[in-house]
Amino acid sequence: MNYLARDTRYDAMTYRRCGNSGLKLPALSLGLWHNFGSVDAFSTQLEILKYAFDHGITHFDLANNYGPVPGSAEENFGRVLAREFKSYRDELIVSSKAGYLMWPGPYGDWGSKKYLVSSLDQSLQRMGLDYVDVFYHHRPDPETPLEETMAALDLLVRQGKALYVGLSNYTADQTQRAEAILNDLGTPLLIHQPRYSMLDRWVEDGLLDVLGKRGIGCIAFSPLAQGLLTSRYLKEVPADSRMAKAHGFLKQEALTPERHAQLLALNDLAAARGQSLAQMAISWLLKDERVTSVLIGASSVAQLSDNLAALDKLTFTKEELQAIEKLL
Ligand code: NDP
Repeated sequence: MNYLARDTRYDAMTYRRCGNSGLKLPALSLGLWHNFGSVDAFSTQLEILKYAFDHGITHFDLANNYGPVPGSAEENFGRVLAREFKSYRDELIVSSKAGYLMWPGPYGDWGSKKYLVSSLDQSLQRMGLDYVDVFYHHRPDPETPLEETMAALDLLVRQGKALYVGLSNYTADQTQRAEAILNDLGTPLLIHQPRYSMLDRWVEDGLLDVLGKRGIGCIAFSPLAQGLLTSRYLKEVPADSRMAKAHGFLKQEALTPERHAQLLALNDLAAARGQSLAQMAISWLLKDERVTSVLIGASSVAQLSDNLAALDKLTFTKEELQAIEKLL
């Protein structure tokens, strides 16, 4: 029998308006960078995606190169969409991106119109979709004129291949310049996707202010610092963890003795709040209303379930915030 989503799926999730737009996103979104490639068990992927949607996660984030192998996360997601989620397309916000190396030669990387248009066509084919809800330029390109990259995003919206556009990894200044160009073209900038966690706070140095003032949404990626801000590495490096996998982007060097001590201390603070470390890390990001959504990854339903429970306690006392601040 085909998958039937739970009737109660919208009961517990909070939805936040994405900047000044008409679109709301779940406070927690799910990314398919790791754990959804051709190297990962399809049955686990299916379980995680169903559990997410059953608990109000309507937003799934992809990119042309997610895997490994590059492209396989979109292919797998496409299989799930076709088999199980077909009747729920209008309840889903699917995003993809282009900006990193995807195919050989001068047209498979960075930010030319040639690359972006071809790449979205390929992504749509892999996912079996007519359109994505959000299409991002994945990283700034120092060589292509910003006008050309923004014109490509505008074109894709006009062609109906994307409903909204976003930027990722752009600085505050680049974001302002890109937004002005998009506004001139008549396509508003919906959202920015920066890396943001307790361990990486660069967005607090200007970008968040720009997003807040300009009414642009913000979706924070790697909010758990790829797993460091969870119980995963408190005792050891588990064999099935991202850090232990050859294709994982989290390297052993990230877990210095100082970092380990810091994580243990943060974990104690989380426990005193009645939360897991992962839950506290998520709540800590959502305390800022300019953060529309926190974009987590998960390798199991148990992790996803743990992370969803962060939404039960989003407030912090002044003392808790000060104690956290001392450790960062
Ligand atoms: P996280 O910081 O949330 O790390 C996810 C990893 O943390 C999981 O794979 C798992 O590791 C571990 N984890 C998650 N929850 C728990 C838990 N409750 N308990 C214990 N361990 C847990 O995010 P990601 O780095 O995965 O990034 C999330 C998404 O952000 C990506 O999928 C992608 O969509 C987006 N992204 C965007 C980028 C960009 O340039 N725009 C770059 C990077 C990510 P393990 O696998 O070891 O179990």
